[in-house]
Amino acid sequence: MNYCSTCGSKDLEKTVPEGDNRLRIVCSNCGQIHYQNPNMVVGCLPVYKGKILLARRDIEPRKGLWNLPCGFLENEETVEEGAIREVMEETGAEVRLLHLHTVYNLPNAQQVYLIFLAEMTSADFLEITTESSEVGLFDPEEIPWKEMAFSSSAFAIERYLANKHTTQTHFGTYYKRTD
Ligand SMILES: [Zn+2]
Repeated sequence: MNYCSTCGSKDLEKTVPEGDNRLRIVCSNCGQIHYQNPNMVVGCLPVYKGKILLARRDIEPRKGLWNLPCGFLENEETVEEGAIREVMEETGAEVRLLHLHTVYNLPNAQQVYLIFLAEMTSADFLEITTESSEVGLFDPEEIPWKEMAFSSSAFAIERYLANKHTTQTHFGTYYKRTD
């Protein structure tokens, strides 16, 4: 944040407001406290006849690496709607949500992932989309583990393959190394 979205002043400081216990960005001109909170990333682990649908990212960050179709939740959207939308945008596939499969915390990146297990309603998907340079269905033994874009996807797929016949939700956390 470079300027105050309330008054336009560039006079921002990080300070702990009275009655608070965390550093916040506060405008020295108008006094507005600019709270920043984690973003929610929603998506799916889409399956079709035992195969998993992955998309190769054509956008930064981690362009060129594989990922489950996921993206930021939009305003005025439920997490379920967002998860289905992301699959359509990144892969062109239609899915039906089965259950919430993964809750994955990234405290240092200010993100929380919600990944649903979903079944594709048909074998149809687009091989290229505006966000993906390649889309494909992978057998479990073909998953490109060494070319996964984010640990959240690897976590979700690992847990899925190890617990295929349960409907449990898996909780994971990734702390970025700070040393
Ligand atoms: Zn201000």
